[in-house]
Amino acid sequence: MPELPEVEALAADLRERVVGRHIIRVDVAAISALKTFDPPPTALHGREVTEAGRFGKLLDLVAGDLHLIVHLSRAGWLHYRDVLPPAPLKPGKGPIALRVRLDTGGGFDLTEQGTQKRLAAYLVHDPKQVPGVAKLGPDALESNAATFAARIRSRRGQVKGVLTDQEVVAGIGNAYSDEILHLARLSPFAITDRLTDAQMTTLYEATQSTLTDAVRRSVGQGAASLKGEKKSGLVVHNRTGLPCPVCGETIREVSFADSSLQYCPGCQTGGKPLADRRMSKLLR
Ligand SMILES: [Zn+2]
Repeated sequence: MPELPEVEALAADLRERVVGRHIIRVDVAAISALKTFDPPPTALHGREVTEAGRFGKLLDLVAGDLHLIVHLSRAGWLHYRDVLPPAPLKPGKGPIALRVRLDTGGGFDLTEQGTQKRLAAYLVHDPKQVPGVAKLGPDALESNAATFAARIRSRRGQVKGVLTDQEVVAGIGNAYSDEILHLARLSPFAITDRLTDAQMTTLYEATQSTLTDAVRRSVGQGAASLKGEKKSGLVVHNRTGLPCPVCGETIREVSFADSSLQYCPGCQTGGKPLADRRMSKLLR
């Protein structure tokens, strides 16, 4: 799932390629992906793209007073193409959800792999009309230490869950939270309101450096190479069974119904493995 650094890089890429160009047409191939109906997609036709940005993990394409806001969700992605085939998209065929055609002859596709369709696009006058934007906490990279600490402490719970709650701070998902907690040497199950001031400062600094490094590596990469770049920078996430590059201990995971987290027992939990529902079932 694209998180803050990847969405920042996609926005930067769009700023370079698309801002200043005019939209010729918007084809909606997956009707369910477009969550708004007024204004209709045709309202974008003939408009100049004036800015590209993001709200947390949501991408924002601005055309005057209209915002096309996209939550790529787990399997969504953006593909920029220098040349688009002239024929209109056929609805309901293939992974393309939405195509934006520009006056250059090129444009971009929003795609989603797999059968679970969660990609969501909103065409609105005010970004706050998008539920996921209205409730968003302050951006993880734009929060200072005091705001960050207050936000994290405002929600009592396991730090992994609180850190990825977009209403607490915006932009962090499953992959970067694993990386941040590893760098901060904190258990993913540590309870937020029991973190000491020193642990909170470490968590804040780990958040800033993890995301800043990832943005630095990502921006300038085209959409096509971003996923590989993200993977190559990960130290614990999706690396179950491999040695931790810091202490050499084997990276372990905890699995949930539809996700999993990875951590290093050596760096994060004093050498103790965390309880895992699936593992304890096997051991019983
Ligand atoms: Zn380690």
